[in-house]
Amino acid sequence: MRKESRMAGKAGIIMKKIAAIVLSCMMCISLAACGSSDKGRTDTDTEIRSGDAAENSVRDGSAMETADVKEESSFNLETGTVMLNSGYEMPVLGIGMFRLSQSEAENSVYWALSDGYRLIDTAKIYGNEEGVGKGIKRAIDEGLVKREEIFVTTKMWTDDYDDGTEAIEASLRKLNLDYIDLMILHHSQPENDVDAYKAMEKAVKEGKLKSIGLSNYYEPDDFDRLVKATEITPALLQNETHPYHQSMKMKEHLKQYGTVMESWFPLGGRGNTQRLFEDETISEIAKAHGKTSAQIILRWHLQAGNIAIPGSSNEDHIQENYEIFDFELTDEEMERMTALDKDERFASY
Ligand code: NAD
Repeated sequence: MRKESRMAGKAGIIMKKIAAIVLSCMMCISLAACGSSDKGRTDTDTEIRSGDAAENSVRDGSAMETADVKEESSFNLETGTVMLNSGYEMPVLGIGMFRLSQSEAENSVYWALSDGYRLIDTAKIYGNEEGVGKGIKRAIDEGLVKREEIFVTTKMWTDDYDDGTEAIEASLRKLNLDYIDLMILHHSQPENDVDAYKAMEKAVKEGKLKSIGLSNYYEPDDFDRLVKATEITPALLQNETHPYHQSMKMKEHLKQYGTVMESWFPLGGRGNTQRLFEDETISEIAKAHGKTSAQIILRWHLQAGNIAIPGSSNEDHIQENYEIFDFELTDEEMERMTALDKDERFASY
């Protein structure tokens, strides 16, 4: 059942890619006719970029106005992906690596890829990039996946913002990869995050990073500060987001940029999950669908337009968290979930 829906999903992706190629060709012809330059492209880009999305993701430093009105990113829950404003397709459900040891990370990545996950979220500061790289290599060596089918995210730590280029090289080395699908700045740090972001922009031009974004920017003004000082619009913002902290204000703000929200602590994070799992509304909805509370919360994230990256080193939980493509929350259930928002963060950073 799961395999079939994955195959149907793959067929959908292929159709989408063919459509994107046709669209890209048409864009290229019309751009050539107009004599336009194509700042956003790099020679090393191998993936399909969706014409105007790729064009719009690069702005002239100050020319915020020209970027504006972008459509809200739409999640395709048939394919389990979202098209980023960078033109790359990203899975909307992945596995998170926070607090996992190197060996736990290796095994969790391997199990996740075996289960059908294609998105992995790690960070330099988690100290497990090598383990993640080993898990990926094991899955590729066994023929479970190809590199280009996987989407790997890592984060640049704040201590490294003054030498972003070296931080990117270090992550590439540790992950044992030629390119990283998405790198994000781990935290807002006004004194030097623009420099770090510019290092990521340079790496995009060199083909070392495909998409770039941010994490832990909680105020629209702070997000805009960085956007105004840089060229490539962040593809994604990763913030603490769960039913008790739904990030509505930031999500509304991101719409103009076509930037997608990704939820960290999607299940509330270690030590807080039981509060969410035992929430009366979530438990009731879980019972109605014959699913666990974790699955209801994760399905809610996807239907609400949040990429979710639940963390786990438990093989059964990893599988359980991926089994959310065979049911749907009704509009009424989504409304009940929305009503749970308390604007309450569990973490203090
Ligand atoms: P989470 O909300 O995913 O919760 C993880 C906890 O839930 C763990 O204790 C795990 O054992 C448990 N769990 C997972 N699946 C379960 C299931 N099916 N049933 C019961 N328990 C289950 O929190 P997280 O892992 O901290 O966050 C997700 C990911 O987000 C991280 O792994 C990391 O990649 C990322 N993250 C980013 C930041 C940031 O600052 N950008 C901060 C924290 C986490």
